[in-house]
Amino acid sequence: MQTVIRFSVGDLVKMKKIHPCGCAVFRILRVGSDIRVTCTQCLREVTLDRLKFEKSVKNVLPKPSEEASHG
Ligand SMILES: [Zn+2]
Repeated sequence: MQTVIRFSVGDLVKMKKIHPCGCAVFRILRVGSDIRVTCTQCLREVTLDRLKFEKSVKNVLPKPSEEASHG
């Protein structure tokens, strides 16, 4: 059963295909008919059409809570 993944700007996503720089985590910059993402390591921007993007995403990472107190 296929689950619909919802994306929004600012989300971090892990891709099935690893970027040439060795990082697989991307941040979403823009969501529309095309999805614009930036590699969190080398900061290179990539635009993919939505269908291709959805197929390439492994999972959406939980957002780090800014309210979490750190010691
Ligand atoms: Zn990269």
